[in-house]
Amino acid sequence: MLPDIERLLILQDRDKKARLIRTELKNAPLERKALEQKLADARQHAGDAKHRQRSAEVEQARLDTEIKSRHGQIAKYETQKLQTRKNEEYQALTHSVEHVKKEIAGIEDRQLDLMDTLEKLKPEVAAADKAATDAAALVQRQITDLETKCANLESQLTELDATRTKFTDGLDEDLLDTYKRLFTTKTEAVVALNHEVCAGCHMKVTASTALATKVGKSVVHCEQCNRILYQGEH
Ligand SMILES: [Zn+2]
Repeated sequence: MLPDIERLLILQDRDKKARLIRTELKNAPLERKALEQKLADARQHAGDAKHRQRSAEVEQARLDTEIKSRHGQIAKYETQKLQTRKNEEYQALTHSVEHVKKEIAGIEDRQLDLMDTLEKLKPEVAAADKAATDAAALVQRQITDLETKCANLESQLTELDATRTKFTDGLDEDLLDTYKRLFTTKTEAVVALNHEVCAGCHMKVTASTALATKVGKSVVHCEQCNRILYQGEH
């Protein structure tokens, strides 16, 4: 194999690694955001359950007050009944007492429903609380892992960038330019020629290209995709 091609293959290997690292680093903030969102969702869910519980408790207290005030009303009617001498008024007051009693019964029914709701909410609130606590611990761990991973990747990338010139020094400049262009536009710049088929575009090359690649005395390009070829499997 041409020494330049051998060097390009090593360079390409490192450049691929660096590109992968850059992609991972670029995606890291999104990954972090997704983790934080997971935690926010769990907290929101716990907050919603608690809010529903609190609303039901407030409503329960309000109904208690309503019942108390209606009992007060009944007591007032009963006093008025004792004071009146008019039969018609007495009847009307009796009717009013019955009416308020019915209202109280209705409120008590609502209270029973509320108690039922609160009973059901209790385990839901506990479960949502636990889920939020668990999510916080898990997400914190995952974020720490992500930060560690990113720090490792950063240092690997710094190392790859700092030592890159070692692998480019002495390479033919035009060849290096071509390599860069192909690496950027076609993902891989240097590919194997296996059984006369380019591993980049999967097309069969001409006999002369195949021969030139096999001989390995010059830089050979695939005539279909222009990638630089080296001899792979015969
Ligand atoms: Zn090709």
